[in-house]
Amino acid sequence: MYRFMSFFMLALVSAVPMLQGGEMADSKGTVVIMLGPPGSGKGTQAVQLSEQFKLPHISTGDLFRHHKKHDTELGRKAAAYSEAGELVPDALVIDMLGERVAQPDCDAGYILDGFPRTLNQAVAFGKEILGSHELVVLNLDVEYDVVTERLGGRLTCTQCGHPFHKLFNKPVREGICDECGGALTQRKDDTEDVIRNRLRVYDTQTKPLIQYYQDLGVLNSVDAGKDKQSIFTELTGTIKAARRVSNHG
Ligand code: AMP
Repeated sequence: MYRFMSFFMLALVSAVPMLQGGEMADSKGTVVIMLGPPGSGKGTQAVQLSEQFKLPHISTGDLFRHHKKHDTELGRKAAAYSEAGELVPDALVIDMLGERVAQPDCDAGYILDGFPRTLNQAVAFGKEILGSHELVVLNLDVEYDVVTERLGGRLTCTQCGHPFHKLFNKPVREGICDECGGALTQRKDDTEDVIRNRLRVYDTQTKPLIQYYQDLGVLNSVDAGKDKQSIFTELTGTIKAARRVSNHG
């Protein structure tokens, strides 16, 4: 536990002057947390929200895949967990995230996709962020059979990570990414057995965060079974409203 906290403290001590710098500009920076089961559309929505609000999109899953692609020690350690649909240990995730949010592009805030996924992660993160940043938690609420169908047909670009779907979001040319021309593949953790395990892990370890953020008064749930554009409109409105309250309240 001590090691876990000190990892995060170290990473954030270096981030604090920059966080305060952003805050001094004119208002608090905004940190958006995307909650929801695997396949609820967090990644797709986070990419669009990132463009809309000019905030970096930080996906811990993408960071691990980046490490794996570059064959780093962290990438090798995380792959064993990810490929089985298990969570990577908190200390590794927190350390990696702390380094990322200390980068200057995060000064005015950022959008977190896939973090936090445990109560420990949420508590450690919240201690540093609440007070210096406006926190907006967006919970994408969707039935498990819908996400199982979505994930089972998901194709991901090996180059840029852009998601497609075999039925609902086909690329123009089969097997080729519309965004960058990279090859599309099925993620190792998008197979039936692993999807089942990921949902089990979500249920036991991540779902309790809904109540945690509800109690903090920062939870906003949306029906993520709707079409992408309606969800995006709702999420955009929620972030804008939260920012208005924080700047004038
Ligand atoms: P994702 O792309 O968000 O579905 O993440 C893929 C995998 O990366 C997960 O199944 C976990 O193994 C790992 N991972 C990503 N974010 C976290 C996190 N916050 N805590 C623990 N493991 C994570």
